[in-house]
Amino acid sequence: MRNIQTDQVVQVVRDLAMLAATDLGSDVLDALEQAKAAETSVTGIDILGRLIDNARIAYREKIPMCQDTGMAVVFIEMGQEVHIEGGSLKEAINEGVRRGYTDGYLRKSICDPITRENTGDNTPAVIHVEVVEGERFKITLVMKGFGSENMSRVTMLPPSAGIQGVRDFIVQLVSEAGPNPCPPTIVGVGVGGTMEMAALMAKKALLRPLGTTHPDPKIGLLEDEWLERINRLGIGPQGLGGRVTSLAVHINTMPTHIASIPVAVNIQCHASRHKSAEL
Ligand code: SF4
Repeated sequence: MRNIQTDQVVQVVRDLAMLAATDLGSDVLDALEQAKAAETSVTGIDILGRLIDNARIAYREKIPMCQDTGMAVVFIEMGQEVHIEGGSLKEAINEGVRRGYTDGYLRKSICDPITRENTGDNTPAVIHVEVVEGERFKITLVMKGFGSENMSRVTMLPPSAGIQGVRDFIVQLVSEAGPNPCPPTIVGVGVGGTMEMAALMAKKALLRPLGTTHPDPKIGLLEDEWLERINRLGIGPQGLGGRVTSLAVHINTMPTHIASIPVAVNIQCHASRHKSAEL
């Protein structure tokens, strides 16, 4: 049995929040550079250059790369041999978010859904805990902006829709989203399971590093084909026209019921901010 103190969790979550806001991953920066090289629209090339400059300035000056510092979504992979000491894990995560958003001068965007009153400290976080084997304890913090979250959807397609129906739903959704999710985007897709599992798979798909290929070649082919279709829409960087509307389509799947095809699309803007640490 391995003991982990809640104080450690608080500190790590705080640091991850501050890092995520200012340090765009190298995979995203590389993808933006490649997009700039592939873009044909003069305006699109200019915008992509500015996004890259913005990310570099944010890293250098330690200031958030976007004013919307999002809702904190925290994924925990917790070994079944791990014991949390010193209080509630949930409270420790929320305290880490509270400190990270305060110490990092990050915008507090979370409010009561009915009264719209701001909670004042960007809590609560959305927390997902997955129990795994062994003594592992991994924390991933996603800083999810809502320009792109608002453009996300879940649907339950009939089996007769087939994989073409799934593709059409996704491409249509990206088309209707237009400039709203601050393209170029990353399109996370979950297919299968139940309604809520499809949504969770779509969000987790956004964590896969850009530039990696899906381990299942037939899913990898779908990712390439659907990205190609999306990039034929002409929405372009920031919706001002061009070739690059999305940087990648990432798909997660799991078996589902014979009566349905649950499909979820979670759209992520170019400010794809997530950081992980292992304790
Ligand atoms: S969608 Fe992304 S880039 Fe656009 S405002 Fe929101 S967090 Fe910022």
